[in-house]
Amino acid sequence: MRSLDDLRASLVSTRGGAVDDSIPQLAEADPELFGAALAHPDGEVVASGDARHPVSIQSAVKPFLFALALADTDGEALDRVGIEPTGEAFDSIKLESDTGRPPNPMVNAGALLTANLVSGDSGEARTRRILAGLSAFAGTDLDYDREISECEQLHGDRNHALAHLMRSEGTLDETADEAVAVYARACSVMVDAAALAVMGATLAFGGRNPVTGERVVSAAVARDVVSVMATCGVYDGSGRWMRSVGVPAKSSVSGAIVLSAPNRLGAAVISPPLDELGTSVRGEALSRALSEEHGLHAFGYR
Ligand code: GLN
Repeated sequence: MRSLDDLRASLVSTRGGAVDDSIPQLAEADPELFGAALAHPDGEVVASGDARHPVSIQSAVKPFLFALALADTDGEALDRVGIEPTGEAFDSIKLESDTGRPPNPMVNAGALLTANLVSGDSGEARTRRILAGLSAFAGTDLDYDREISECEQLHGDRNHALAHLMRSEGTLDETADEAVAVYARACSVMVDAAALAVMGATLAFGGRNPVTGERVVSAAVARDVVSVMATCGVYDGSGRWMRSVGVPAKSSVSGAIVLSAPNRLGAAVISPPLDELGTSVRGEALSRALSEEHGLHAFGYR
Protein backbone atom coordinates (compact mmCIF):
# COMPACT_ATOMS: atom_id res chain seq x y z
CA MET A 1 0.00 0.00 0.00
CA ARG A 2 1.28 3.48 -0.84
CA SER A 3 2.00 5.61 2.21
CA LEU A 4 0.37 8.96 2.92
CA ASP A 5 3.77 10.60 2.23
CA ASP A 6 3.92 8.93 -1.20
CA LEU A 7 0.36 9.92 -2.11
CA ARG A 8 0.92 13.51 -0.96
CA ALA A 9 4.25 13.76 -2.77
CA SER A 10 2.63 12.54 -6.00
CA LEU A 11 0.23 15.50 -5.86
CA VAL A 12 2.56 18.33 -4.80
CA SER A 13 2.87 19.48 -8.42
CA THR A 14 -0.94 19.63 -8.85
CA ARG A 15 -1.86 23.23 -9.70
CA GLY A 16 -5.11 25.10 -10.14
CA GLY A 17 -7.55 26.97 -7.98
CA ALA A 18 -7.17 30.22 -6.10
CA VAL A 19 -6.72 31.13 -2.45
CA ASP A 20 -9.88 32.61 -0.86
CA ASP A 21 -9.82 36.38 -0.48
CA SER A 22 -12.87 37.02 1.72
CA ILE A 23 -10.65 38.22 4.59
CA PRO A 24 -6.98 39.33 4.56
CA GLN A 25 -5.79 36.45 6.74
CA LEU A 26 -7.11 33.91 4.24
CA ALA A 27 -5.86 35.89 1.23
CA GLU A 28 -2.33 35.81 2.70
CA ALA A 29 -2.30 32.00 2.98
CA ASP A 30 0.67 30.26 1.38
CA PRO A 31 -0.69 28.48 -1.71
CA GLU A 32 2.11 25.89 -1.38
CA LEU A 33 1.01 24.80 2.09
CA PHE A 34 0.05 21.12 1.83
CA GLY A 35 -0.55 18.97 4.88
CA ALA A 36 -2.45 15.76 5.46
CA ALA A 37 -3.13 13.32 8.26
CA LEU A 38 -4.93 10.05 8.91
CA ALA A 39 -6.35 8.94 12.25
CA HIS A 40 -6.81 5.21 12.66
CA PRO A 41 -9.16 3.24 14.97
CA ASP A 42 -6.32 2.35 17.38
CA GLY A 43 -5.51 6.04 17.85
CA GLU A 44 -2.47 6.07 15.59
CA VAL A 45 -2.16 9.39 13.74
CA VAL A 46 -0.11 9.45 10.53
CA ALA A 47 0.95 12.96 9.50
CA SER A 48 2.49 14.17 6.26
CA GLY A 49 3.86 17.45 4.87
CA ASP A 50 2.62 20.58 6.65
CA ALA A 51 0.34 18.54 8.92
CA ARG A 52 1.32 20.61 11.97
CA HIS A 53 0.66 23.98 10.37
CA PRO A 54 -2.53 25.50 11.86
CA VAL A 55 -5.15 27.28 9.74
CA SER A 56 -8.58 28.61 10.67
CA ILE A 57 -11.02 25.72 10.53
CA GLN A 58 -13.71 27.74 8.66
CA SER A 59 -16.54 25.60 7.35
CA ALA A 60 -14.89 22.35 8.39
CA VAL A 61 -16.30 23.24 11.82
CA LYS A 62 -19.87 22.81 10.60
CA PRO A 63 -20.25 19.03 11.16
CA PHE A 64 -19.01 19.50 14.73
CA LEU A 65 -21.35 22.42 15.43
CA PHE A 66 -24.20 20.24 14.20
CA ALA A 67 -23.02 17.40 16.46
CA LEU A 68 -22.82 19.65 19.53
CA ALA A 69 -26.22 21.17 18.74
CA LEU A 70 -27.79 17.69 18.44
CA ALA A 71 -26.16 16.57 21.67
CA ASP A 72 -27.08 19.70 23.63
CA THR A 73 -30.70 19.86 22.43
CA ASP A 74 -31.32 16.12 22.74
CA GLY A 75 -32.02 15.95 19.02
CA GLU A 76 -34.33 18.98 18.85
CA ALA A 77 -31.81 20.57 16.48
CA LEU A 78 -33.21 18.20 13.83
CA ASP A 79 -36.52 20.06 13.99
CA ARG A 80 -34.79 23.42 13.69
CA VAL A 81 -32.63 22.81 10.61
CA GLY A 82 -33.34 20.91 7.39
CA ILE A 83 -31.15 18.13 6.01
CA GLU A 84 -31.64 18.47 2.26
CA PRO A 85 -28.83 19.52 -0.09
CA THR A 86 -29.28 22.96 -1.67
CA GLY A 87 -27.36 22.66 -4.93
CA GLU A 88 -26.30 26.23 -4.18
CA ALA A 89 -23.26 28.07 -2.84
CA PHE A 90 -22.40 27.91 0.86
CA ASP A 91 -23.48 31.48 1.57
CA SER A 92 -26.68 31.50 -0.47
CA ILE A 93 -29.35 33.73 1.10
CA LYS A 94 -32.03 31.10 1.19
CA LEU A 95 -34.19 29.42 3.80
CA GLU A 96 -36.81 26.67 3.40
CA SER A 97 -39.79 28.51 1.94
CA ASP A 98 -42.48 26.72 3.97
CA THR A 99 -40.73 26.64 7.36
CA GLY A 100 -38.15 29.47 7.38
CA ARG A 101 -35.56 26.94 8.55
CA PRO A 102 -32.05 26.86 7.13
CA PRO A 103 -31.81 24.17 4.41
CA ASN A 104 -29.06 22.12 6.10
CA PRO A 105 -26.34 22.47 8.76
CA MET A 106 -23.46 22.43 6.24
CA VAL A 107 -24.30 25.78 4.61
CA ASN A 108 -23.77 29.08 6.43
CA ALA A 109 -27.44 29.60 7.35
CA GLY A 110 -27.56 26.21 9.05
CA ALA A 111 -24.25 26.60 10.87
CA LEU A 112 -25.22 30.07 12.10
CA LEU A 113 -28.19 28.38 13.71
CA THR A 114 -26.50 25.23 15.06
CA ALA A 115 -23.67 27.31 16.60
CA ASN A 116 -26.36 29.06 18.58
CA LEU A 117 -28.26 25.91 19.57
CA VAL A 118 -25.39 24.65 21.72
CA SER A 119 -25.79 25.11 25.47
CA GLY A 120 -25.01 28.46 27.04
CA ASP A 121 -27.04 31.44 28.17
CA SER A 122 -24.86 34.00 26.37
CA GLY A 123 -22.71 34.22 23.26
CA GLU A 124 -19.61 33.94 25.47
CA ALA A 125 -20.94 30.83 27.19
CA ARG A 126 -21.83 29.19 23.87
CA THR A 127 -18.35 30.01 22.58
CA ARG A 128 -16.80 28.32 25.63
CA ARG A 129 -19.00 25.26 25.10
CA ILE A 130 -18.04 25.11 21.41
CA LEU A 131 -14.32 25.37 22.22
CA ALA A 132 -14.59 22.63 24.83
CA GLY A 133 -16.58 20.42 22.45
CA LEU A 134 -14.23 20.91 19.50
CA SER A 135 -11.25 20.23 21.78
CA ALA A 136 -12.84 16.95 22.87
CA PHE A 137 -13.37 15.96 19.22
CA ALA A 138 -9.69 16.77 18.51
CA GLY A 139 -8.22 15.38 21.72
CA THR A 140 -6.22 18.57 22.12
CA ASP A 141 -6.96 22.10 23.38
CA LEU A 142 -8.18 24.34 20.58
CA ASP A 143 -8.72 28.10 20.62
CA TYR A 144 -9.88 30.70 18.13
CA ASP A 145 -7.87 33.51 16.54
CA ARG A 146 -9.28 36.85 17.75
CA GLU A 147 -8.13 38.84 14.71
CA ILE A 148 -9.65 36.37 12.26
CA SER A 149 -12.94 36.28 14.13
CA GLU A 150 -13.11 40.11 14.18
CA CYS A 151 -12.46 40.18 10.44
CA GLU A 152 -15.06 37.48 9.79
CA GLN A 153 -17.63 39.61 11.60
CA LEU A 154 -16.61 42.77 9.79
CA HIS A 155 -16.62 41.21 6.32
CA GLY A 156 -19.40 38.67 6.84
CA ASP A 157 -22.23 40.74 5.38
CA ARG A 158 -24.01 37.71 3.97
CA ASN A 159 -23.85 35.99 7.35
CA HIS A 160 -25.38 39.07 8.99
CA ALA A 161 -28.07 39.06 6.30
CA LEU A 162 -28.81 35.37 6.91
CA ALA A 163 -28.98 35.87 10.67
CA HIS A 164 -31.39 38.80 10.30
CA LEU A 165 -33.51 36.77 7.92
CA MET A 166 -33.69 33.80 10.32
CA ARG A 167 -34.45 36.10 13.22
CA SER A 168 -37.32 37.69 11.27
CA GLU A 169 -38.66 34.21 10.44
CA GLY A 170 -38.55 33.27 14.12
CA THR A 171 -36.00 30.53 13.42
CA LEU A 172 -33.15 32.15 15.34
CA ASP A 173 -33.62 33.06 19.00
CA GLU A 174 -30.52 35.22 19.44
CA THR A 175 -29.88 38.66 17.94
CA ALA A 176 -28.19 38.61 14.56
CA ASP A 177 -25.01 40.24 15.93
CA GLU A 178 -24.67 37.71 18.71
CA ALA A 179 -25.36 34.76 16.42
CA VAL A 180 -22.80 35.95 13.86
CA ALA A 181 -20.20 36.52 16.60
CA VAL A 182 -20.54 32.96 17.92
CA TYR A 183 -20.39 31.50 14.41
CA ALA A 184 -17.41 33.69 13.42
CA ARG A 185 -15.46 32.56 16.48
CA ALA A 186 -16.22 28.93 15.64
CA CYS A 187 -14.94 29.45 12.06
CA SER A 188 -11.76 31.07 13.47
CA VAL A 189 -10.72 28.10 15.58
CA MET A 190 -7.15 27.16 14.63
CA VAL A 191 -6.50 23.54 13.69
CA ASP A 192 -3.79 21.61 11.89
CA ALA A 193 -4.38 18.56 9.71
CA ALA A 194 -3.41 16.18 12.52
CA ALA A 195 -6.02 17.58 14.90
CA LEU A 196 -8.67 17.80 12.17
CA ALA A 197 -8.08 14.16 11.20
CA VAL A 198 -8.76 13.11 14.80
CA MET A 199 -11.95 15.21 14.77
CA GLY A 200 -13.06 13.38 11.62
CA ALA A 201 -12.14 10.06 13.18
CA THR A 202 -14.23 10.78 16.28
CA LEU A 203 -17.27 11.02 14.02
CA ALA A 204 -16.14 8.02 11.95
CA PHE A 205 -15.93 5.87 15.08
CA GLY A 206 -19.41 6.63 16.37
CA GLY A 207 -18.59 9.67 18.51
CA ARG A 208 -15.71 8.15 20.48
CA ASN A 209 -12.30 9.81 20.12
CA PRO A 210 -9.89 7.00 19.12
CA VAL A 211 -6.88 8.83 20.60
CA THR A 212 -8.21 9.83 24.03
CA GLY A 213 -10.93 7.19 24.31
CA GLU A 214 -13.43 9.88 25.34
CA ARG A 215 -17.03 9.53 24.22
CA VAL A 216 -17.71 12.98 22.81
CA VAL A 217 -21.19 12.46 21.34
CA SER A 218 -23.49 9.45 21.06
CA ALA A 219 -23.27 7.02 18.14
CA ALA A 220 -26.72 8.21 17.02
CA VAL A 221 -25.52 11.82 16.84
CA ALA A 222 -22.36 10.82 14.95
CA ARG A 223 -24.42 8.85 12.44
CA ASP A 224 -26.76 11.78 11.84
CA VAL A 225 -23.82 14.13 11.29
CA VAL A 226 -21.89 11.84 8.94
CA SER A 227 -25.06 11.19 6.92
CA VAL A 228 -25.52 14.91 6.31
CA MET A 229 -21.80 15.34 5.51
CA ALA A 230 -22.30 12.71 2.81
CA THR A 231 -25.20 14.53 1.17
CA CYS A 232 -24.38 18.21 1.84
CA GLY A 233 -20.74 18.49 2.98
CA VAL A 234 -19.27 19.76 -0.27
CA TYR A 235 -22.18 22.14 -1.01
CA ASP A 236 -23.16 22.12 -4.69
CA GLY A 237 -20.24 19.76 -5.36
CA SER A 238 -21.54 17.05 -3.00
CA GLY A 239 -22.79 14.79 -5.79
CA ARG A 240 -19.53 15.01 -7.69
CA TRP A 241 -17.58 14.39 -4.47
CA MET A 242 -19.64 11.38 -3.42
CA ARG A 243 -19.23 9.78 -6.83
CA SER A 244 -15.49 10.34 -7.13
CA VAL A 245 -14.24 10.21 -3.50
CA GLY A 246 -17.16 8.40 -1.86
CA VAL A 247 -16.26 9.47 1.68
CA PRO A 248 -18.42 11.83 3.79
CA ALA A 249 -16.46 15.08 4.08
CA LYS A 250 -16.64 18.79 4.73
CA SER A 251 -14.78 21.42 2.71
CA SER A 252 -13.84 24.93 3.83
CA VAL A 253 -12.50 28.22 2.47
CA SER A 254 -9.18 27.86 4.29
CA GLY A 255 -8.53 24.82 2.09
CA ALA A 256 -9.09 22.33 4.88
CA ILE A 257 -11.13 19.20 4.21
CA VAL A 258 -12.17 16.81 6.98
CA LEU A 259 -13.18 13.26 6.05
CA SER A 260 -15.02 10.63 8.09
CA ALA A 261 -15.00 7.12 6.67
CA PRO A 262 -17.32 5.24 9.06
CA ASN A 263 -15.57 2.48 11.03
CA ARG A 264 -12.45 2.91 8.90
CA LEU A 265 -10.59 6.17 9.55
CA GLY A 266 -10.68 9.93 9.88
CA ALA A 267 -8.57 12.13 7.64
CA ALA A 268 -7.80 15.75 6.92
CA VAL A 269 -6.08 17.57 4.08
CA ILE A 270 -5.10 21.25 4.07
CA SER A 271 -4.12 23.08 0.87
CA PRO A 272 -5.45 26.64 0.36
CA PRO A 273 -6.10 26.97 -3.42
CA LEU A 274 -9.82 26.36 -4.02
CA ASP A 275 -11.86 25.45 -7.07
CA GLU A 276 -14.96 27.41 -8.13
CA LEU A 277 -17.13 25.56 -5.57
CA GLY A 278 -14.78 26.35 -2.67
CA THR A 279 -13.14 22.93 -2.44
CA SER A 280 -9.37 22.63 -2.06
CA VAL A 281 -8.02 21.42 -5.42
CA ARG A 282 -5.14 19.38 -4.02
CA GLY A 283 -7.32 18.43 -1.06
CA GLU A 284 -9.85 16.79 -3.36
CA ALA A 285 -7.14 15.08 -5.40
CA LEU A 286 -5.50 13.64 -2.29
CA SER A 287 -8.86 12.62 -0.84
CA ARG A 288 -9.60 10.68 -4.01
CA ALA A 289 -6.17 9.04 -3.93
CA LEU A 290 -6.63 8.09 -0.27
CA SER A 291 -10.08 6.69 -0.95
CA GLU A 292 -8.73 4.52 -3.77
CA GLU A 293 -5.64 3.39 -1.84
CA HIS A 294 -7.58 2.42 1.29
CA GLY A 295 -10.77 1.24 -0.46
CA LEU A 296 -12.85 3.85 1.38
CA HIS A 297 -15.55 4.56 -1.20
CA ALA A 298 -18.91 4.05 0.54
CA PHE A 299 -20.25 2.26 -2.53
CA GLY A 300 -17.07 0.61 -3.69
CA TYR A 301 -16.88 -3.11 -4.35
CA ARG A 302 -13.87 -5.12 -3.31
N1 GLN B 1 -16.22 31.89 7.59
C1 GLN B 1 -16.67 31.56 6.31
C2 GLN B 1 -17.99 32.23 6.05
O1 GLN B 1 -18.91 32.11 6.83
C3 GLN B 1 -16.76 30.07 6.17
C4 GLN B 1 -17.22 29.68 4.83
C5 GLN B 1 -16.57 28.42 4.29
O2 GLN B 1 -15.57 27.93 4.77
N2 GLN B 1 -17.12 27.93 3.20
O3 GLN B 1 -18.15 32.88 5.07
